[in-house]
Amino acid sequence: MEEKPPELGGVWKRVVVVGGGVAGSLIAKSLQFHADVTLIDPKEYFEIPWASLRSMVEPTFAERSIIYHKDYLTNGRLVVSKAINISNSQVLTAEGRHIIFDYLVIATGHNDSFPKTRSERLKEYQAEHEQIKSADSILIVGGGPTGVELAAEIAFDFRNKKVILVHEGSRLLELIGPKAADKTLEWLKSKNVEVKLRQSVDLNNCSEGSNTYVTSSGEIIKADCLFVCTGKPTGSAWLRDTVLKNSVDSFGKLKVDENLRVKGYKNIFAIGDITDVKEIKQGYLAQKHALIAAKNLKVLMSGGKENKMASYKPHSPKVIVSLGRQDAVAQFPLTTLIGLVPGLIKSKDLFVGKTRKQLGLDPRIVDH
Ligand SMILES: Cc1cc2nc3c(=O)[nH]c(=O)nc-3n(C[C@H](O)[C@H](O)[C@H](O)COP(=O)(O)OP(=O)(O)OC[C@H]3O[C@@H](n4cnc5c(N)ncnc54)[C@H](O)[C@@H]3O)c2cc1C
Repeated sequence: MEEKPPELGGVWKRVVVVGGGVAGSLIAKSLQFHADVTLIDPKEYFEIPWASLRSMVEPTFAERSIIYHKDYLTNGRLVVSKAINISNSQVLTAEGRHIIFDYLVIATGHNDSFPKTRSERLKEYQAEHEQIKSADSILIVGGGPTGVELAAEIAFDFRNKKVILVHEGSRLLELIGPKAADKTLEWLKSKNVEVKLRQSVDLNNCSEGSNTYVTSSGEIIKADCLFVCTGKPTGSAWLRDTVLKNSVDSFGKLKVDENLRVKGYKNIFAIGDITDVKEIKQGYLAQKHALIAAKNLKVLMSGGKENKMASYKPHSPKVIVSLGRQDAVAQFPLTTLIGLVPGLIKSKDLFVGKTRKQLGLDPRIVDH
């Protein structure tokens, strides 16, 4: 069937997108005027993940970075629920709905336990902000990009707080090069963040309310508030009892071909962090996956030949970690930079306006 809108006598194919994160929101938005799109996500909103740490120090920042799915998905269907099973033609949701598809896109990136409603999520930021404001000392566990960005946000906005960052690795930001990590460590130290490397904190063994934490080397840390910034599990556990169980590798990633289809399937795509594409898992790459898969779906839905589909080529690392509101550390393929120059690229708006624009929304402000 030709890809014609229903009002011109065509029948749109049913595309079901599971996961309304960075990749899922963009592909759903991109296909909504070319197919009968259903987006399944446990939340009524899409949240721009890289804005979350700024939102903890400035809760109103989240007004633009937490976006109702209905604001960009104006011509699609939204099902606010978790997907719990898939057959060859249907997705089953936790609330018991069976949703039929012609094409399926899996975009369940990472598992999270965020609240269902936007207002609850905004309240969480307000509460975290109050916690930071009233604390004299703050312990952050995890020295990847999330822990580093949070330490930097707090150190920049609350200069009198004692911030302690504990990381079990031998250096910060292990996903990028040592040069970037060293520069980041210097920056944090210059803002009086105390960084403890090669140590972990046993979070199962700290008594509630005592504000006392013990590190793996026996050091005692007193802190009024704790933030755990260690990695989240890949959102693929639910796939292990589905028709896709043999397509999940030992790291919990879905095996995809160069067209971003799940290997062995003609009508199932996977995009974003859930895929086994050999590259750093990054949001801007998840967006690229979404655009390639949308293109390929349009080819297939309009009866085009498979060899007309676009191939996805893994990208070399390009990472920018913001350090407060002005500075950042960036690793590009040929160089590492720290300070105001990479900061100008990311740290003021954290790509929030850009991401909103990509979803067809006003980059500036929303009225709700
Ligand atoms: C704090 C933080 C900062 C980051 N900073 C950057 C940055 O500066 N630049 C950058 O490029 N990348 C950054 N990243 C990485 C980037 O956010 C991820 O690469 C990106 O979110 C991956 O997109 P995704 O769509 O694959 O998955 P996600 O964005 O994780 O979305 C997955 C979605 O699937 C949903 N889901 C999960 N399970 C189910 C289910 N069973 N049924 C239905 N829905 C389900 C989830 O609720 C979620 O909405 C950052 C990540 C974090 C957490």
